[in-house]
Amino acid sequence: MQISVQIVVRTEVDEQASVTEIAHLEREGFDAGSLGLHLDEAKALLGRLQRSMIDAQAAEAIARVSVCPQCGSRLTVKGHHRLVYRSVFGRLSIDSPRLYQCRCSGSGRRSVSPLASCLRERTSPELQYLQAKFAALMSYGLTVRVLGEVLPLEHVLAATTIRRRVATLGRRLESSRAAVAVEQRRCTDLPAGRCNIPQHSIVRAVGIDGGYIRLAGHSSRQDGWFEVIVGKSLRDDGSGHSFAYVHTLEHAPVDRMLAFLAQESVAADQPVTFLSDGGDTVRRAQLDFGDCGDCVLDWFHVAMRVQNLEQMIKGLPDRDERPSVDVLIDVLRRAKWHLWYGCPYPALRRLEGLSWELDADCSLEEAKLLARLEEFIGYIENNQRFIVNYGDRYRHGEPITSSFVESAVNQVVSKRFVKRQQMAWRPAHAHDLLQVRTAVLNEQLRSRFEQWYPALAASNQAHHIAA
Ligand SMILES: [Zn+2]
Repeated sequence: MQISVQIVVRTEVDEQASVTEIAHLEREGFDAGSLGLHLDEAKALLGRLQRSMIDAQAAEAIARVSVCPQCGSRLTVKGHHRLVYRSVFGRLSIDSPRLYQCRCSGSGRRSVSPLASCLRERTSPELQYLQAKFAALMSYGLTVRVLGEVLPLEHVLAATTIRRRVATLGRRLESSRAAVAVEQRRCTDLPAGRCNIPQHSIVRAVGIDGGYIRLAGHSSRQDGWFEVIVGKSLRDDGSGHSFAYVHTLEHAPVDRMLAFLAQESVAADQPVTFLSDGGDTVRRAQLDFGDCGDCVLDWFHVAMRVQNLEQMIKGLPDRDERPSVDVLIDVLRRAKWHLWYGCPYPALRRLEGLSWELDADCSLEEAKLLARLEEFIGYIENNQRFIVNYGDRYRHGEPITSSFVESAVNQVVSKRFVKRQQMAWRPAHAHDLLQVRTAVLNEQLRSRFEQWYPALAASNQAHHIAA
């Protein structure tokens, strides 16, 4: 059997339709190996289809721009050069004439390259999108191999171009986020005076946590890591979106939070709760968000530390000069009870009372317990502003734990950045990749591209109608 694939192009310029054969296929027999189109044939076919389509579009555009729109006379060609355009279906070279401007414009013998000025970006938005989407999920080298396997992209992609793409796109996402923040600030700066009670928002809390990424070019263990802050929203239906950034590179955290909340459809006057485990960097990050919301210390971390202390008390050897293990446990549980009801001061008094009963010189177990208890007291003191009435929140179905963001740290950071120990990153590049990766994980990257290139959304709709 002989199969030929032709494309027929009708333009407004030519009355006669042009027919080009783009593939000729031969098949014998009927078995799994010979049935239908092979991947190599499909790649070649798509490549040639793209070539023919772009040639036709370029020819039509050249015919249109070669005539003066004012007087209708033909413009003189000064010369030709080639534009290189990278698309999902291969790298193409497009003829781009340089034309003298018409005498009627009065601008002398100036020349212009109309196609070059129409085509400012030389990589198609869809190729940019695909490169970024895969690079957010897997290594740059693997991205090149996977895309080259299924699309006619041989010699089009390289790990270094993917890396540059990620950096450019990360910065583009950051600047569109900054624009949202400016808009949000305008909303929050509206004069007060409206006393409407805000509607309940669908975001129940925003969890904030930290992760570490290995620093490139560092061998010493101490300074070999940098911190990344990850946040995730928790919605009524249990779903949520993430954001992430390199802590030292964030100079406007309030703007980041304003933009994130706007994206999550939280209005400027709707209350938000931030939940975190109260670690030092995370606490600072949380305070950086200013008036965007109320900070709450994660209950799970408090309860876990108390449970750990209780286990240590149970392991203490008996001693006459000290109250019994049961009495010590009772004091600890009362402290926990105060914390549960949002009263850090009586809790701290009880914990300090407990520490006075202990003597580090008596046994190793007691010394360890005392050290751990003092650390816990410090933790509660540092976070006392964020200890709320957990019992009350719990009864009202409000979230009291940030565990939902811990899995987000794993998803956003660990799986891409620290999967293998030898993966090391420069902070600025990690920051860019984090912007792309969160957009991909949040399933927002495609809609960003459709905002930037509305023709993409239009072709999507046309496709759906045709289907
Ligand atoms: Zn003219």
